Amino acid sequence: MKYIFGPVASRRFGLSLGIDLSPDKKRCNFDCIYCELEPSKPTIFYDNPPSVEEIFEEVKKAVNHYRFDVLTITSNGEPTLYPYLDELITKIKTLNHKTLILSNSSTINKETIRNTLKKFDIVKLSLDSANEKTFKKIDRPHKSINLKDIIDGMKKFREMYKGEFIIEVLVVRGINDKEEEFIQLNEVLKEIKPDRVDISTIDRPPAYNVKPVDEERLFELSKFIENQHIFIPTRKKLKTEFEELSKEEILTTLKKRPFTENDVKNLFNPNTQKIFNDLLKEKLIEEVWVGGVKFYKSIV
Ligand code: SF4
Repeated sequence: MKYIFGPVASRRFGLSLGIDLSPDKKRCNFDCIYCELEPSKPTIFYDNPPSVEEIFEEVKKAVNHYRFDVLTITSNGEPTLYPYLDELITKIKTLNHKTLILSNSSTINKETIRNTLKKFDIVKLSLDSANEKTFKKIDRPHKSINLKDIIDGMKKFREMYKGEFIIEVLVVRGINDKEEEFIQLNEVLKEIKPDRVDISTIDRPPAYNVKPVDEERLFELSKFIENQHIFIPTRKKLKTEFEELSKEEILTTLKKRPFTENDVKNLFNPNTQKIFNDLLKEKLIEEVWVGGVKFYKSIV
């Protein structure tokens, strides 16, 4: 198959069956320093696009063949550059599977793109910085793209979109890993109001000579983001963050910031985990699913 890949078990979205809209080469309007594809000059055009029929035929066969949670539209580059995306997602919706798109957010200021993206069940948009200078340094966008338009587009999208809206922040050492960056991001996120914020770092060889931050640093930075469902994909066991917490302290913590299962395992010591489980049984903590990830939230 040319356009289908996976299914891939993803920590962020469950079992994902991928549809790659640009399998032959990279077509992107960014040239991110952390990209796992080769560096390339940003472009805003998609040359020689394949037909909707060609892609849809493969999708139809694949959905009957594989077991998966979500059909993910992605690309070797930016999937919203594909000129027939609206027609494609309209057809894919007739197959009755959950759909997700992974976009770098560069086109979200266009009304036509917002109308297309609202057809997806889950939309993941990237926002690596709320500071124009840092944004240009890390994402190296095409000269026609600026951060203000992206943020305005995200706010407009939130107003019209009823599905699950996820924002991803990728942290690169020495570029967007300062507290001030996250204080600024927090202000913008308050206005955008996504359903979930994913904070990650480089985990595959990048296009340029840049480094990831430690997973502990991701947790430190996440403390500057208030009142959001935050998901940090971690690979290793982190140092326990809290001393033993009382019932009340656990409830206050989870009120301010819902935890994932991983957070509970990583950040609470064994005794605190035991108290947490009691609170769960007493139904003072509830489970909430956002974009395939389970969160625990205090209800008092
Ligand atoms: S948006 Fe994605 S594909 Fe494009 S340069 Fe950045 S990481 Fe690479």
